[in-house]
Amino acid sequence: MGDDRQMKKIRVGILGVAAAAALCFTAGAVYLYARGVWQMPIPADRALPVLMYHHIVEDGEPCNDMTITVSRMEQDLRWLTEHGYHTVLPRELAGGEPLPEKPLLITFDDGYRSNYELLFPLLQAYQMKAVVSIMVYMQDVSADNFLSWDMCREMADSGLVEIGSHAYSLHNLGDLGGNFDPGGINGIQRDPEESDSAFEARVLGDIQKSHDRIAQEVGQPVTFFAYPFGITEPDAEAFVHELFPVTAVTRHGTADLGKGLHELPRMTVTMDRELEDILKD
Ligand SMILES: [Zn+2]
Repeated sequence: MGDDRQMKKIRVGILGVAAAAALCFTAGAVYLYARGVWQMPIPADRALPVLMYHHIVEDGEPCNDMTITVSRMEQDLRWLTEHGYHTVLPRELAGGEPLPEKPLLITFDDGYRSNYELLFPLLQAYQMKAVVSIMVYMQDVSADNFLSWDMCREMADSGLVEIGSHAYSLHNLGDLGGNFDPGGINGIQRDPEESDSAFEARVLGDIQKSHDRIAQEVGQPVTFFAYPFGITEPDAEAFVHELFPVTAVTRHGTADLGKGLHELPRMTVTMDRELEDILKD
C-alpha cells in the first residue's frame, strides 16, 4: 500500500513536470511564431508553389524583372517535367479535385500577346497548364501587344490555359501606362475621398465587369483573380473572395493550401535566378 501511494506521487510528479514542459514549449513556440522568428514548415501535402511570369521575348532581346526569353521558358518547363512537377489550374483547386504529386501553379499576369505566340506552343509541347490573367480592357479595345479574344478562346479551348482576371481597367491603365504610381491610388485600392457608392461603382463594378466579360467571351467559369500590383483592399475583400474562389498576390513564398485558396503568395521568375533556386525559397 505504502509503495502504491509513493508510485502515485511519483507519477503525478512526472505528469506535472511533463505538462509544465509542454506548456513552456507551446508558449515559447507561439511567442517565436508571433515574432516571425520561427515558422512551422508547410506540410508537403499542403504546399503549392505558385510561379509568376509576365512577358516572354525572343532570345537575345533584353530582359527585365517582367520578362524572360523563350529559351528560358522552355528550360523551366523541361526542368519541372524532369523533376516530377504537375501543373494544376485554379479551377481544379476551386473544384476540390485531388491534387497530383508535386503540384505547381503557373501564372502569367497582364495578358501579353507573347503568352499566345511564345508560351502557348510550349505548353502544348510539354502538356503543361497555366493561368493567364488579363486586363480585360485591353482585349475590348484590341490593344497591340496584348492577347485578342480569339487567342484567349483558342488557348482556353485547349484545356491547357485558364483565363483569369487582372481587373478590367484598374491596372493604372491610361496616363500611367499600367505602371505603379508611388504614393497614388493603385489597382483596386480605395480612394479615401470616395463614398461607398462611388467606390462600389468604380472598383467593384470594374472587377465584376472583368469577370463577366471573360465568362461571356471565353465561355468558361472564371475562378481566378490576380490583384493588380498584388495590392489588396479591405473594402473589396469579401466581394473579390465571393466572385473568385482563387486569388493571388505578389508576396513571395510557397502557398499553404491549409490556409485556403485566397491571397496565394507567388514566386517571381526572372532571368537572373535558376528556377531550381527560386523553388527552394
Ligand atoms: Zn500586372
